Amino acid sequence: MTRTVDVAVLGAGVAGSSMAKALADRGWETALIDRQSFPRHKVCGEFLSPESRSTLHALGLAEKVENLLPSKITRVRLIFENGADVELPLPGEAWGVSRYSLDSALLLAARQAGAELHAASSVAALKPLPKGFAVEMKRGGEACVLQARTVIAAWGANRRSGLPGYRPDGPASSAYIGVKSHFVGVDMEPVIEMYMFRGGYMGLCKVERGLVNAAALLERDSFAQAGKSVPDFLKEAARRNPRLAGRLAFAEPVAGSQAAVAPVFLRRKPQAWDGMPLLGDAASMLPPLCGDGMSMALRSAALCAPLADLYLRGGLSLADWEQEYTRSIRKEFAGPLRWGSLLQWAVGMPSAGKWLAAISKLNPGLAEGLIRATRLKPDQT
Ligand SMILES: Cc1cc2nc3c(=O)[nH]c(=O)nc-3n(C[C@H](O)[C@H](O)[C@H](O)COP(=O)(O)OP(=O)(O)OC[C@H]3O[C@@H](n4cnc5c(N)ncnc54)[C@H](O)[C@@H]3O)c2cc1C
Repeated sequence: MTRTVDVAVLGAGVAGSSMAKALADRGWETALIDRQSFPRHKVCGEFLSPESRSTLHALGLAEKVENLLPSKITRVRLIFENGADVELPLPGEAWGVSRYSLDSALLLAARQAGAELHAASSVAALKPLPKGFAVEMKRGGEACVLQARTVIAAWGANRRSGLPGYRPDGPASSAYIGVKSHFVGVDMEPVIEMYMFRGGYMGLCKVERGLVNAAALLERDSFAQAGKSVPDFLKEAARRNPRLAGRLAFAEPVAGSQAAVAPVFLRRKPQAWDGMPLLGDAASMLPPLCGDGMSMALRSAALCAPLADLYLRGGLSLADWEQEYTRSIRKEFAGPLRWGSLLQWAVGMPSAGKWLAAISKLNPGLAEGLIRATRLKPDQT
């Protein structure tokens, strides 16, 4: 007979593992399902924004992350193709921590709270049942099914038609490629460095154990001739910004730390619910330039967990859960999404280096205000 759990959380990234922990903490039998095995490297700037800290505390996860010995970051520096730069303080202390360590730590916290992990298990279909869902998974070549009273989708930007949260791809001309690699041999201050160039940008962020993460978001068309491997893309990016080339000249890539993702579409319509709650990137994707995607993923879990708990206890209807969760996601995310898109567009302009440098000299408060507008407010949950 097929087993029934209280809740199945689909995707064990930042949003999914924190959600699974929160529900297992509340005593619910929780299955956490991911198509990958852990630990694994993942394309990300690995900059955990100051806004994440209050949410990590609210979720009981701050200490787990602090134990990973993240680097401390207090400023952001934008470095343009023409050599101009702008440096701004962050609204608080941020952390640099690899997704290799972070995702595994959050996953472990979920398991310690009692969640059961189904790794290397890809969710292929969800079938509605009179009370809940049948979750159909593929593990290796084998199919298996788990029944759940409720299901929560935290599988990132889902690109599989027929599964909740799917939105059709945008036009091919708006597709990006994301790449990352860890390096040794780069000395960094407590500053996240963002290098702008024609067709994209690259962030350098110090993470734990003195490693430096280089992550780039590249317009697919602009980098079509760059080659096929992650080092090819990173090399071509560095060629387009002389200061970046200088920075990476003596850097040594860490074997096995490279990852890539494509296509990435930034203009997906935000959607908090599709027959079930959508968390993190499954709900909406903030331009990665803002470095607040993980914070939003954590926040969506913190907002959704008490509502899921109430629903499972019979104290909230599905319709009321949908309404309340959608309302809170809109309230928290609408501003950062709007301002984040504006910032992404602005720094992509060829003249951005000149006018941003001018604004930040003439009116530093204005430049800082723009950065602040792209960010989540501190957690009140
Ligand atoms: C180039 C780049 C740089 C970025 N830099 C930063 C940064 O510096 N700071 C920041 O905060 N954010 C950054 N982001 C954004 C950040 O990575 C995301 O916002 C964050 O990972 C979202 O977390 P999530 O848990 O919603 O999804 P994910 O972390 O994507 O996790 C989703 C999980 O679901 C699993 N999954 C997917 N489909 C299935 C399936 N069918 N069955 C089972 N499992 C499935 C995946 O394997 C994955 O583990 C960056 C993004 C990019 C592309």
